[in-house]
Amino acid sequence: MKEDYYEILGVSKDASAAEIKKAYRKLALKYHPDKNPGDSSAEDMFKKSAEAYEVLGNQEKRAKYDRFGHQAFDGGFGGGGGGMNMDDIFSQFGDIFGGGFGGGGGFSGFGGGFGGGQRRAKGSNLRIRVSLNLEEIANGCEKKIKVKRKVQASGTTYKTCSTCNGSGQVTRVTNTILGRMQTASPCTTCGGSGQIIDKKPDGADAQGLITKEETVSIKIPAGVEDGMQLKVSGKGNDAPGNGIPGDLLVAIEEKEHQSLQREGDNLHYDLYITYSEAALGTSKEIDTVTGKVRIKIEEGVQSGKILRLRGKGISSINGYGKGDLLVHVNVWTPKTLNKEQKEFFERMANDENFQPNPEKSDKSFFEKVKDMFS
Ligand SMILES: [Zn+2]
Repeated sequence: MKEDYYEILGVSKDASAAEIKKAYRKLALKYHPDKNPGDSSAEDMFKKSAEAYEVLGNQEKRAKYDRFGHQAFDGGFGGGGGGMNMDDIFSQFGDIFGGGFGGGGGFSGFGGGFGGGQRRAKGSNLRIRVSLNLEEIANGCEKKIKVKRKVQASGTTYKTCSTCNGSGQVTRVTNTILGRMQTASPCTTCGGSGQIIDKKPDGADAQGLITKEETVSIKIPAGVEDGMQLKVSGKGNDAPGNGIPGDLLVAIEEKEHQSLQREGDNLHYDLYITYSEAALGTSKEIDTVTGKVRIKIEEGVQSGKILRLRGKGISSINGYGKGDLLVHVNVWTPKTLNKEQKEFFERMANDENFQPNPEKSDKSFFEKVKDMFS
């Protein structure tokens, strides 16, 4: 059972907006992580009171809470997990404490969570696009792509940062309307890593990095779609010193296929046959993602028939099987006829054998579509 927001803030149900704000300020200062380093119960209270204020400090949300209780906000915070993240809480401070806090001005240095000590800088991410054809998507593939990365120049040496003495943090005492506050923030001289460059070779930038072309091998799983993004960890730009490299973000582009159309994991192919082929039966070569295959068309096939080639579609990205290839049979009606042909069809016009006589197996188009999705 979730705790009552009014109880968390220690106010009565008919407290005014000003009283609620005041109560929250008090708690936020009392349980602020800067004042309680490493104290997880204080952190807990800090988060709880922020969540309570997020609701009670807003007239509309408060009214909802009064009517429906916690149910009104189930899953509402940060997409389900309940609780707010630190960025949410600190962005709320602008409202509570005015300009002096919030926005990272007063309370900063939580980049890596609480009590984090030294942070390791992370290199920036790189972004590339990879264009794939349907054949590559269907079964997955490996792509070797040339990427220009910033890497640590060999010969770069580091020394301890004299601003923070290697701790990566600087402590500041600020005078605020609420009294003196001690805050820790990442050292700006070394970016929080605790180390600065001592020597670097020619051609390296201020962070001791040089740009280098590297061939990165990217494993593309089967079933990716246009617009998806893959991450190759550690193949972005290097970070200086003991930092960790950024990631390579790969945006997938799907090339259009000349004859196959994709629909999820299934593929569609439009096959056109002549009247004669429909009447007499035939065999036809069609495209698949693994090359051409020959399929048999029975005599008397109806236009609109869908032939399903099981497992000839795209492998599911979740690893659950493969889609099918659906071949749509279209009987091509000639748009013009010469005299002889015209006579032939006129002769057949009243032939009993040419009269439509659909059987159960000649399902209507809509029934076929229904079948396909069931
Ligand atoms: Zn430093």
